[in-house]
Amino acid sequence: MAVLVTGGAGYIGSHAVAALLEQGEQVVIVDNLYQGHRNAILGGKLYEGDLRDADFLAKVFQENDIDGVIHFAANSLVGESMKDPGKYYHNNVYGTLCLLEQMQKAGVSRIVFSSTAATYGEPERVPIDEFDRTLPTNTYGETKLAMEKMIRWFDVAHGIKFVSLRYFNAAGAHESGKIGEDHSPETHLVPLVLQVALGQREHISVFGDDYDTEDGTCIRDYVHVSDLADAHILALGRLRKGEDSAIYNLGSGNGYSVKQVIDVSRKVTGHSIPAAIEPRRAGDPAVLIASSDRARKELGWTPRRDKLEDIVTSAWNWHRENPTGYAK
Ligand code: UDP
Repeated sequence: MAVLVTGGAGYIGSHAVAALLEQGEQVVIVDNLYQGHRNAILGGKLYEGDLRDADFLAKVFQENDIDGVIHFAANSLVGESMKDPGKYYHNNVYGTLCLLEQMQKAGVSRIVFSSTAATYGEPERVPIDEFDRTLPTNTYGETKLAMEKMIRWFDVAHGIKFVSLRYFNAAGAHESGKIGEDHSPETHLVPLVLQVALGQREHISVFGDDYDTEDGTCIRDYVHVSDLADAHILALGRLRKGEDSAIYNLGSGNGYSVKQVIDVSRKVTGHSIPAAIEPRRAGDPAVLIASSDRARKELGWTPRRDKLEDIVTSAWNWHRENPTGYAK
């Protein structure tokens, strides 16, 4: 029996593949490698292709004895999603439809879905729990919510059981140092700050210091990518036990401001990391912090690397050793 990981060459997907391999699972990966990196895949069997190619995907299900799917394959840049919503609906929503149709045909009835805190939009309260209102403020979050809902209707109609994992801010890198974060273009705070430390950028832009927070900058809940990977394994275990579909937030429960991230990064790297205050970025809520109580209670998930300093240190180990990311 094998686990199919879509988007397994991406940042979080590759860490999930590594965690599955560490558990002795057989892993099949589907990735079109538009954003993913061949070198991020530490093992398993790669099929290079697109979920929207029905013949290709049918072949993957025919050639492998797949008992569950972990679905990461998607576009995930908020800014890009606002400029090109069609791309997000096509790849994310239609891609998921194609996957569910093939699962249904092949009789595969378990899926762990890579969702996001962006499904909530501007929170009504913090910490956010899974019953709070979902009202995305960008196309990326809207498509992820649409994907979640689609999976739920396939559950109702066809018994495809799911666990949807709504991540807060993923950061850090694998402890082996072999895999880490390499997006192009990079838009995320932690890797950008570390690129300044490496001398690849002159300064880090701080998007707004006039928020209603202690130091005026946005507060986020940073969660280590390997803790996220572990949650996928627990979620798959839950589905294998025959338990019901569920949605879980995944965050460390700790909020750190943009300024705190920069300060911790200065300490970890020993570099001065110049910062410049710039206008707010559209669609950024002031504070996003997860309540992950449900995941802790029902999945038995405990984020083991929940100190910001440890998360930044692991990211720094990767960036220092791989200053230009994966070999192309
Ligand atoms: N941010 C920033 N400068 C940057 C990139 C991000 O000030 O160059 C801020 C952003 O406004 C947000 C936080 O850092 O408050 C985390 O942003 P990121 O893009 O990493 O993740 P998001 O919260 O959008 O998922």
